[in-house]
Amino acid sequence: MSENPERDIHSRLILKHLNETFFNQEVCTKFILSILHPEGPVCPSCGAAIDSEKQKIKWWRGERVCCPSCGLHFTARSNTSLNKSTLSFPGLFLMAVLMESGLSMPEISRLTGRPWRTCYDLRDRFHTETRERKGLQKARKVTASYRKVTT
Ligand SMILES: [Zn+2]
Repeated sequence: MSENPERDIHSRLILKHLNETFFNQEVCTKFILSILHPEGPVCPSCGAAIDSEKQKIKWWRGERVCCPSCGLHFTARSNTSLNKSTLSFPGLFLMAVLMESGLSMPEISRLTGRPWRTCYDLRDRFHTETRERKGLQKARKVTASYRKVTT
């Protein structure tokens, strides 16, 4: 409690206004790509390393590069669970944080202004254990044990 309640800030208010612009583009991109590609920039088709400095910079920005060996055009998202995802890296980072915070998909959809479909799609891409999924697994276990008892 502060001496002047008009100068208080509430965590709910921060959450309500939280969006991807709060996160640093370069930090989020590097963080996510380092997890996806601990070996660094490599062609997803032939495995050749991207050695040109210019191409490396583009790859680490999430931009399209060309394999020096087989000529394939790809991005760091190609052939990963983020393939064809158009959400920015800060956007992906925010969604992962919200999903792990235990909020439901409809709550995340409302907070971020993203369609439900996008949220559920990302949940699958992130392999997130959400409340809904845990509830579903629990329901399946209950049903299975009920079947054992009754048969
Ligand atoms: Zn290649």
